Amino acid sequence: MKTKFNINNLVRKNVADLKPYSSARDEFKQGDSNMVFMDANENPFETGVNRYPDPQQRELKEQLGEIKGIPAENILLGNGSDEVLDLIFRAFCEPGKDNITTLPPTYGMYQVLAEINNIENREVLLTDDFQPNVAEIFNKVDDNTKLIFLCSPNNPTGNLFSEEKILEILNNFNGLVVIDEAYIDFSESESWINKLEKFPNLIVTQTLSKAYGMAAIRLGICYASAEIIQILNKIKPPYNVNELTQKRALERVIDIISVKKEIADILTERNKLFKALLEVDFIEKIYNSDANFILIKVDNAKLRYDQLLKKGIVIRNRTTQPLCENTLRLTVGTAEENQKLMEAFQSLK
Ligand SMILES: *Cc1c(COP(=O)(O)O)cnc(C)c1O
Repeated sequence: MKTKFNINNLVRKNVADLKPYSSARDEFKQGDSNMVFMDANENPFETGVNRYPDPQQRELKEQLGEIKGIPAENILLGNGSDEVLDLIFRAFCEPGKDNITTLPPTYGMYQVLAEINNIENREVLLTDDFQPNVAEIFNKVDDNTKLIFLCSPNNPTGNLFSEEKILEILNNFNGLVVIDEAYIDFSESESWINKLEKFPNLIVTQTLSKAYGMAAIRLGICYASAEIIQILNKIKPPYNVNELTQKRALERVIDIISVKKEIADILTERNKLFKALLEVDFIEKIYNSDANFILIKVDNAKLRYDQLLKKGIVIRNRTTQPLCENTLRLTVGTAEENQKLMEAFQSLK
């Protein structure tokens, strides 16, 4: 039974009671005209990075918010999605007591974070067509299930989850639904961030690591109600997004036209690669992709993985994942890289 949503019933008591650390840069930001900063024990000589960064990353959030059509108060930034996801665990899941639900085969970090935080993970396998098994999810969840993780488009399968199934979960689950949209920019589907107002129990995560081409700077994004963002803000390390990351991310987000062009090129290449893979004998199945990678089923994943490695091409063997026996995951590269991959595949016996 769905009860009336109240975030205060989900947040851990120690987090609710916490008085956050107040940093020197919370109140005053460098760059404000004519101010002298003697509050944070920094070295005053200019290196470009001698001052602490903006703990709230205001400029970057404004710019991101403009592109995504989301107010800054609904955004939290972290040191990669990994930090964002960890903050969500720590805000809502009581170690040794609460549990979460994940839908394998999926992104491995949810399980790792559950273990780190001592939270039970109630796994519910995807159906054979890699969609959420909604009936089974509701069989497994209980009053201590705080989070359900939906990865859409899903890694490693590459597909989007059906809107209908996600709605069923959002409408009937009493905890928080986290939709990991690391690959959403490659899909034709609309992001769930546009449904935040309708669903107070929805958290959406995105990242600059994939479509935005900035894996090395570590920038993860969380979109949620202002109430949820405030809770996560309380427990994040004060300066969790460094100055260099904020600068590079801002430059990239402002140059959204280049990002979109690269995404379009990657999608063209993905579709070319998909067609070329159809011609390889030992590839038994090529799964449809809404992301920048393609999952394939082959005759012998270990053999094909090792053969490609010998030719200097590194792909991901997913054969140990449930429902993924003898599968390999291929990231779409440049036209030249994909050509090399195809030549290697064609040369294999
Ligand atoms: C790659 C990936 C991420 C990105 O994580 P970052 O820490 O932001 O680099 C998140 N979720 C999924 C499903 C991914 O595949």
